[in-house]
Amino acid sequence: KFQHRAIVDPLAAGQDILSSKHGNTQVPKLLGSLARYIYTGDEADYRAATFFWDQVALHHSFATGGHGKNEYFGPPDKLNDMIDGRTAETCDVYNMIKMARDLFSVEPDIRYADFHERALFNHILASQDPDDGRVCYMVPVGRGVQHEYQDKYEDFTCCVGSGMESHALHAYGIYYESGDKLWVSLYAPSTANWQSAGVKLKMSTDFPAGQSASLQITSDTPRKFTLALRRPYWAGTGFSVKVNGELLTNLPKADSYVEINRTWKKEDKVELVLPKTLRTEPLPDNPNRLALMWGPLVLAGDLGQERKRGPDRNAEPQAPVLVAAAQPVENWLKPVTGKPGMFRTSGVGLTTDIDFLPFYQLPRRRYAIYWDMFTPQEWKKQSAAYAAEEERKEKLEASTVAFAQPGQMQTERDFNQQGEDTSPVQIQGHYGRRGTKWFSFDLPIDTAHPVTLIVTYSNEARRNGAFDILVDGTKVGQQATERRSPEQDIRFFGVEYSLPPPLVEGKQKVTVRFEAAEGNDISGVFGIRMIRADAAR
Ligand SMILES: [Zn+2]
Repeated sequence: KFQHRAIVDPLAAGQDILSSKHGNTQVPKLLGSLARYIYTGDEADYRAATFFWDQVALHHSFATGGHGKNEYFGPPDKLNDMIDGRTAETCDVYNMIKMARDLFSVEPDIRYADFHERALFNHILASQDPDDGRVCYMVPVGRGVQHEYQDKYEDFTCCVGSGMESHALHAYGIYYESGDKLWVSLYAPSTANWQSAGVKLKMSTDFPAGQSASLQITSDTPRKFTLALRRPYWAGTGFSVKVNGELLTNLPKADSYVEINRTWKKEDKVELVLPKTLRTEPLPDNPNRLALMWGPLVLAGDLGQERKRGPDRNAEPQAPVLVAAAQPVENWLKPVTGKPGMFRTSGVGLTTDIDFLPFYQLPRRRYAIYWDMFTPQEWKKQSAAYAAEEERKEKLEASTVAFAQPGQMQTERDFNQQGEDTSPVQIQGHYGRRGTKWFSFDLPIDTAHPVTLIVTYSNEARRNGAFDILVDGTKVGQQATERRSPEQDIRFFGVEYSLPPPLVEGKQKVTVRFEAAEGNDISGVFGIRMIRADAAR
C-alpha cells in the first residue's frame, strides 16, 4: 500500500534515478525496503536498499558523508557544481548511518563501517555546538561556508529532532555480535557487555583525536571466540595489533577485519596503533577540487569568525585557492607543534597561511572543506581569466547609456516603471521584477550609435514561463524559462537584443515592455541596460 514504485522499482533494477529527487524523502523509503527484507526475505527489497545505499554513499556523498544541495540529489558522480551553498542536511546523514548499521547487521561488509566512521566523525560530530548543545540543519561542505545552527527557541526542524537523537546513538555500531564472533567496527571509548557469550570488554582510546586504542577483556570465565578488529582503509603503514604485548604478524590488508580466534581470558589485552596519514580526496568529476583528510577526518580550513544569520551570510568572497597541485600534501601542509591534528599551509601562494583542523573542532567558524588546486602555470592562466572578466565589466560600464534596476523603488520611478499584475522580487541579493501580465520601463538611448538592449534574467522560476520583449510596441525577442530543479545553482545571465535602426531613429528614449504569453509568467527581470553597440567590449 505504501510502496513508492516510481522510486523503489528502478532502484531494485539498478537504475540511479535520484537526480532532482528530494534527499531525505528517499532514504526512509529504502530503510523501509531493508526492514521489510529482514522480515520477509524479499530479494527485490534487498536489491533496492543495497543499490540505493551504495549509490548515495559512494556516488552522491561529499567527504563528510553528507549529500545533497538544498535538500536535493544531483546526478551521480557529478559533485563539482554541487559543493557550494546549502549542502548536506543532517537528517540525511542520520538516516544513512542508521541504514549502514542495519546493512552491516545483514551482511558485515566493511564498507558500511567505513561510511559510519566517516559520517559520524565528520558530519555528525560537527553538527552540534559543543558549548550549548544546539544542532545543525545543514552542515555545508563548500568554500567559505558555515554551520546552520538551529535556534533553541525559534527552530524545530526535522534536523533538530534527528539531531538530538544522533548524539544519543554514539554507542550504536561500535560492536556487532553473531554466534562466536565479535566485531569492533569503530574506535571510541566504550564498554560492551556481550551477554550471550558472557564476555565483557572495555575500550580505551583518545580516538578520533588520537591514533591508538586498547581493549581489555574483563569477564571471569575463559571463552573461545573470534575478535574481528577493523583495519581501516586509511590505516596503512604502521598499523599494528598486539595481544598481551605480542605483535601479530600476517595482518590482512587495509580495509578488512583482523580476525583473532583464541580462547580469551580475563585480563587479556589488545592494543592497536591506528596511524593517520594526510591524504587528498578529489571530487569524482574534478581532480583539482579536493578535500584534505587526516585518517578518516576531514581537515577544514579555518576562515575566521562565523557571520550572523541574514540573507547575505553566504555572499562572502570564496575561499582562496591553493597553488600546490602536483605536490605531495606533506610538502605544503605542516603539523603545528603542540597541537595534534592541527596543520598549517606553507608556500602555496596565499597571502596569509591557513590553519586546518579536524572539521568537528571548528564550531562557530567560517570554513572551507573543498579547495581548488592549481599548478603555478594554471594559476597564472586562471588569474589572467579573472582579470579579463574585470576588464569586460569595466568596458560594459563604459558603453552603457542607461541601466534600470527593476525591483528598487527609486530607479523604478526614475525609469517610469508601469505594469499590471506585477511585483518586485529579490533572489540571492539580486533585485528584480516579475509578473503574470506585463510591465515596462522607459530608457534613454544614444542614436548617434547602434543601440543594443541587454536584459538580465535568472534560471530561477516557480513554474515554466514564456514572455515577449517589446520596444515601443515592436517585438524584439522572446524568452522562455523552465522551473529550476532545486539542486541546480541559481544563475543570472544577460541576453542581448540589437534594436533595428528604424525603431530607434530620431528618438531620445524608448519603452521596453515585457509581456507574458497567455497563461504564462514573466519569471523575472533583474537588469535592463541600453548600450552603444559599437563601443569597445
Ligand atoms: Zn532534516
